[in-house]
Amino acid sequence: MPELPEVEALALDLKGRLQDRAIVKIHIAAFSALKTFDPPLSALEGTLVDDVTRHGKFLDIHASGLHLCLHLARAGWIRWRDEVPTIPPKPSTKNPLAVRIVLDNDAGLDITEAGTKKSLAMYVVRDPLDVPGIASLGPDPMVESFTIEVLGEILQREGRKQLKGVLRHQGTIAGIGNAYSDEILHAARMSPYKPAGGLDDGELKTLYAAIRDTLGAAVERSRGLHASELKGEKKSNLAVHGRTGQACPVCGDIVREVSFADSSLQYCPTCQTGGKPLADRRMSKLLK
Ligand SMILES: [Zn+2]
Repeated sequence: MPELPEVEALALDLKGRLQDRAIVKIHIAAFSALKTFDPPLSALEGTLVDDVTRHGKFLDIHASGLHLCLHLARAGWIRWRDEVPTIPPKPSTKNPLAVRIVLDNDAGLDITEAGTKKSLAMYVVRDPLDVPGIASLGPDPMVESFTIEVLGEILQREGRKQLKGVLRHQGTIAGIGNAYSDEILHAARMSPYKPAGGLDDGELKTLYAAIRDTLGAAVERSRGLHASELKGEKKSNLAVHGRTGQACPVCGDIVREVSFADSSLQYCPTCQTGGKPLADRRMSKLLK
């Protein structure tokens, strides 16, 4: 799933390609992705793109006073086409194409979603705050006003909740998902299960620096890359996320994972949990 750094880079890449271009036509192949009906999707046809920005993990295409907001979810992605096919796409369960945006220079944008679990979401609104997922976002960790004091207050408020869940909850802090929360906690050398309210001043400083440095470095690396290059870039720079069984790049210990119903987290025991593996209910159930 694209998170803050990838969506930031996508917004920048798309801004360069879409700004001042007119949207000529929008073809929708996956109707379930469109979550709004007023204004209709067709209201975007004939508009000029003014800007492309990011809210948390949402992309926002600004066009003549309207906004097309996109949440790519787990398997959604964007593919740029220098020339779009002239035949409109047919709705199909096999084709990952969800939406195609055609521009006045015959180039265009395919928004795709792979896999069977469809969660790509698209909203046409007059104000991005009309999108519930955007209106409820917590502060963005990359803006200047996200100070160490702001993080400290958030952690105090979350109290006994575990850091892993606090970091990736969009209503608490915007833009961090499963991958970067693993990476941030590894950089901060903290257990994913550590209670948010239990950090001392030194630990708060460490976690704050880990958030800004991890995301900042990923944004820096992703900047200027095209959509097609972003996934590989993200994957090749992760220290623990998605690397179960491989060596921790910091200490050489084996990266371990804890599985949940529909996700998993990865961590390094030596760096993060005093050398002790965390209990994995699914694994212990299998071993019984
Ligand atoms: Zn390690």
